[in-house]
Amino acid sequence: MTKVYDFDVVILGGGPAGLSAAIYAARGNVSTAVIDINPFGGQPSNYAALENYPGSINTDGFELMEKFEEQADLFGVQKFPMQEILSVDLISENKVILTTEARFNAKTVIIATGAQAKKLGVKGEKEFTGCGVSYCAVCDGAFYKDKIVTVVGGGNSAVEEAMYLARFASKVFIVHRRNELRADKILQERLKIFANIELIYNSTVKEIVGEDKVTKVILNNTQNNNLSELETDGVFPYIGMVPNVEKIAGQVKQDAMGFIFTDATLKTSVEGVYAAGDVRVTPLRQVITAAADGAVSAVYAVKYLEQGKYTTPLPMQIEQL
Ligand code: NAP
Repeated sequence: MTKVYDFDVVILGGGPAGLSAAIYAARGNVSTAVIDINPFGGQPSNYAALENYPGSINTDGFELMEKFEEQADLFGVQKFPMQEILSVDLISENKVILTTEARFNAKTVIIATGAQAKKLGVKGEKEFTGCGVSYCAVCDGAFYKDKIVTVVGGGNSAVEEAMYLARFASKVFIVHRRNELRADKILQERLKIFANIELIYNSTVKEIVGEDKVTKVILNNTQNNNLSELETDGVFPYIGMVPNVEKIAGQVKQDAMGFIFTDATLKTSVEGVYAAGDVRVTPLRQVITAAADGAVSAVYAVKYLEQGKYTTPLPMQIEQL
């Protein structure tokens, strides 16, 4: 028989935004649950290094997320990991989340489902995922010892993960579509130290080729449309993120990419529903901003519970910017 739970706050997603929201909500003395399809920790659990989270010197992402979880435990947060969400009803006054294991009735919901790697959408990408195409350098990097790998993208993720892969691989190519990287300058400087990393500018991957596993990529020069072949054993696309919003799509206001609009209290377009972290429209997607979002969303979810509705006019609505 399906279990039924009643909570004041149900948080969807157990990454930094979700766990931080859980800590703040539970400390606000309301019953709080966090649901995640995976073990808790979210994306940072796969970060080899986390250099810019204040106070976390010499701490990797996994360790930091364990501490977030431990802190949520201290305040009595109910955790439901490894639960696939089947449906979510955010529109009714009493929100309902159905998972493979249970029904959760919630007075308020905080959406902290994060984002996942954007796909290249080229021939061979899907076919070779797990056989040469990977979106997680920390998970799969060791398989490429003394091999050639190709990272696609020009942001912080591409550069950081290329440097991580350079510890194992004999050669790392970074293929970027423009003639300059988007990554932070400090990372670009550090990249120069790696003799086995080579940048290929003005190029996109047109196709990923192989038999049982990847053997090469076909590159398209964005300036003259010339095609060329690049031998490689692995392809790691790091070209940005798409929000995890499959089960809530259409119920709250979202931008063209699916990221959720919020106001300054992180309330969505629906009363009693908040969004925090990478899943929302935000100028910066970092562990620290996700954690801060968790705090803001939970504080205002608790105020909403206390007052029935939190209606103080706010100075800024993201949609109006
Ligand atoms: P990002 O900053 O959005 O960069 C995506 C990169 O992929 C850009 O260089 C973009 O090119 C390129 N790109 C996008 N679509 C493409 C396509 N279809 N084909 C080829 N290239 C494509 O994404 P990210 O690096 O994954 O980072 C996501 C967020 O996490 C960012 O806010 C980032 O700052 C943050 N992050 C921070 C850290 C850190 O601070 N240590 C580490 C990792 C991530 P253009 O440059 O031409 O647009």
